[in-house]
Amino acid sequence: MSSRVREQLSFLDDDPRGASPVRRQYLEFKRRYPDCVLLFRLGDFFETFDDDARLVAAALDLTLTQRDLGRGARVPMAGIPAHAAESYIARLLAQGHRVAICDQVGPVPERGLVRREVVRVVTPGTLVEPSLLAAEANNYLASLWRAPTGAVGLAYADISTGELAATALAGDDVLDALAAELARLAPAELLLAQDADDAALRAVVPERCRLTPCPPERFHPERARRAVLEHFAAPSLAALGLGDPAAGARGDGPHPAVPALGALLAYLRDTQAAALALLDRVQVYAASGAMVLDAATRRNLELLEGARSGARADSLLGVLDHTRTPMGARLLRAWISQPLRDLARLQRRQAAVAALVDAPLRRAELRALLGQAGDLERLAGRAAQRLLGPRECLALRRGLEVVPAVRALLADPALAPLHPAAEQLDPCAAASAAIARTLADDPPAVFGEGTIRAGVSAALDECRALSGDTKQVLAQLERRERERTGVRSLKIGYNRVFGYYLEVSHAVANSPTDHFQRAQCGAATVAELLDKLGYQRKQTLANAERYVTPELKTLEARLQSAQEEALELERQLYQGLLDTLAAAAPALRRTATALARLDVLAALAEAAARYGYVRPELLAEGPLEIEQGRHPVVERRLPAGSFVPNDTRLDHHDCQIVILTGPNMAGKSTYLRQVALIVLMAQIGSFVPAARARLGLVDRIFTRVGAQDDIASGHSTFMVEMVETAAILRAATRQSLVILDEVGRGTSTFDGMAIARAVVEYLHDHPRLGARTLFATHYHELAELERTRPRVKAYRMAVLEEGERVVFEHRVEPGGADRSYGVHVARLAGLPPAVTRRAAELVRELEQRGPLGAAPEPAPTANGRAPEGTLHPVLAELRRLDVLALSPLEALAKLLDLQERARES
Ligand code: ADP
Ligand code: MG
Repeated sequence: MSSRVREQLSFLDDDPRGASPVRRQYLEFKRRYPDCVLLFRLGDFFETFDDDARLVAAALDLTLTQRDLGRGARVPMAGIPAHAAESYIARLLAQGHRVAICDQVGPVPERGLVRREVVRVVTPGTLVEPSLLAAEANNYLASLWRAPTGAVGLAYADISTGELAATALAGDDVLDALAAELARLAPAELLLAQDADDAALRAVVPERCRLTPCPPERFHPERARRAVLEHFAAPSLAALGLGDPAAGARGDGPHPAVPALGALLAYLRDTQAAALALLDRVQVYAASGAMVLDAATRRNLELLEGARSGARADSLLGVLDHTRTPMGARLLRAWISQPLRDLARLQRRQAAVAALVDAPLRRAELRALLGQAGDLERLAGRAAQRLLGPRECLALRRGLEVVPAVRALLADPALAPLHPAAEQLDPCAAASAAIARTLADDPPAVFGEGTIRAGVSAALDECRALSGDTKQVLAQLERRERERTGVRSLKIGYNRVFGYYLEVSHAVANSPTDHFQRAQCGAATVAELLDKLGYQRKQTLANAERYVTPELKTLEARLQSAQEEALELERQLYQGLLDTLAAAAPALRRTATALARLDVLAALAEAAARYGYVRPELLAEGPLEIEQGRHPVVERRLPAGSFVPNDTRLDHHDCQIVILTGPNMAGKSTYLRQVALIVLMAQIGSFVPAARARLGLVDRIFTRVGAQDDIASGHSTFMVEMVETAAILRAATRQSLVILDEVGRGTSTFDGMAIARAVVEYLHDHPRLGARTLFATHYHELAELERTRPRVKAYRMAVLEEGERVVFEHRVEPGGADRSYGVHVARLAGLPPAVTRRAAELVRELEQRGPLGAAPEPAPTANGRAPEGTLHPVLAELRRLDVLALSPLEALAKLLDLQERARES
């Protein structure tokens, strides 16, 4: 290494012709990657120059140095040590930069320039470094294309695992569907055509996702088609599942996913070309096979993290995640993010979970084995890209070691539903043996000296013996030189710049020689003696002199060449091993995928067994019936047995809409979410927290939470609430489940109640909708709707009153709450008694004035509606109003108008 560093730096320093060859090489790379921070490998460092150096020094808190590049031209320079590069790169990425890594490739030549290449461009969506990736989540790179017809093509890949998928979205609500897909994937980076100056498209991009504009021609349908066919070596798009005869017939061009996919592949070619080998299959899917969950619903249901705490432990994932491998954890996350609507697939998952629930010993054994499997999936991905380090190879082998045992375990006939996954398991014996045969027991993390086991190559063993000898010879030489010079403290040392040397302290060098030596060669001091003995002074330190002798130089050269030869041999052998592993990568990936699936199934079974879940009966269509349902996350936070279970029934006949009233803190929100979570759990194949459940499949779950409860999103305006509610009313179907929690709360009581009521009436009366709905509200007046709407049922949270004290039983019972109890909650919260007493007085006063101002509720007519003439004019107008036809601004204006009139009267 010493010679290399010296060589590089001297090229930089003293080229008399102005820009040195290294400098010219650097500038050439920089020209090709103008939009990246270019990290240029020089020996043990990645260096940056010029503007990059200024940027990097500021961004990473490094010292900015100046380097003379001949003729007095000085260039700013900042370097990061190569061994710590990953953490620096992570920081650059986090600050929004792209990083091009220009590394030395091939051996260092005797003279001239080292060959260098930009080996990859690191962007948020193209990470492969284990240290930069979260183990428990996928890291997606996505690509979007919008067809002239309005349809959207979406492709995405995780190049650390090899997942590649594509879909087309179309229809009136294409942007909603896209927003939901992007919310599910949470891609790290999204590719868009530079000219796709499409504000609507950009508006649906999640906040934390990096947008990368790409040259528009990459999305050109014909060019993309060719790129896709070439990449997969496929005869036709249809062979890939990307054929779309209907679109072809309409003259709309190819499947809308093709341009997105083509651009994604082109981008990878530029940034991480090795990943292309990994992406050998594209999964074309229809979003219609899965349940749709928009971003707000994902947040409200706390699927992956608690809405307030942001902690995983407070989420459904936190409760269900009993996986033992990182790949299993990622897959469980993916399942929770994408519940299914496919009854057959769900029943297969359920059967597998059931088999593992019923076989607790087998389950424990399986989970113990999985605990040793490691992240085989990402290791397989790195194997395909020839990125594995020696220790990762060993980890791969350890992971494969569990495979035969897992297969044997699953052969049990009682575990028949797991056999399809078991059949995918391949112990990859040849790859495993190659690792065992080739690698040393304790190799370095990054390839280097000592990677290859002794006995693998006779040539390597010989080189090693030689350099081992040389070390002995050096020790002998030191002994001999001590004798020859009479300097007992003389010692051999090594440093990276000067190589081997013989060191003598100044004190000794300046001391007089003994009289025997003086007589022999006439030297008065030790220094003179050394000179006479052929020592050449190499370096003077503060307290010592360093010398070399011709013999030492020869030895050093021998040692170095033996070491270099050995390293080169090790490199070749290691490359051979990487070849073998790359060839095994497809089988490795299949195996990893199967292990991930087994891990998730075992985790769901473990949760079911630990927490007393039952297998829900799933129906293609039908009611939602839950007996003694519980909230999976809330019940875990409470002492065992203290969560109060509740029943639920929602159908299309007489119980389509449940209005749930009750005071604050009584358990309304918990109950609503519990129903949604039970449905969602059932549709990922999990058992559910209930005594019994019969569930007709749901196509979408919508949840909206009134402004005051929705602390997480930050924008608690009435407007947001209304816009979101309007979106539900637009998109919900008969198969949907709608959860409305205190919607209408973000405004004054009168308006809020009016809006809430209008929404419920609409959900009930609209012939297309009929969506099953749970509506929690503290407007107890809403329960009245039960009397005028046949499919509305009123329920309330049971409350025990003991004098001043109010006890919430958390029990749902038929009927409407008769008042709000807000004052009691205020008392519980510790407001001063004077305040709560005054508040209670005010409540009594208000209650005497009756609900909704003065006018008593008119008697219903035969069709269940009050005659218009008897209504307050404001209510009459409200009833006539087509809320969904109004723009949000119009709605607000109308609302203000209504409010003014209501106040006047
Ligand atoms: P609300 O929406 O009516 O204001 P929440 O649903 O937020 O009430 O519930 C308030 C608290 O009551 C919860 O944090 C939980 O601790 C407790 N709780 C809710 N439902 C139950 C239940 N079924 N069993 C036991 N405790 C419950
Ligand atoms: Mg609530």
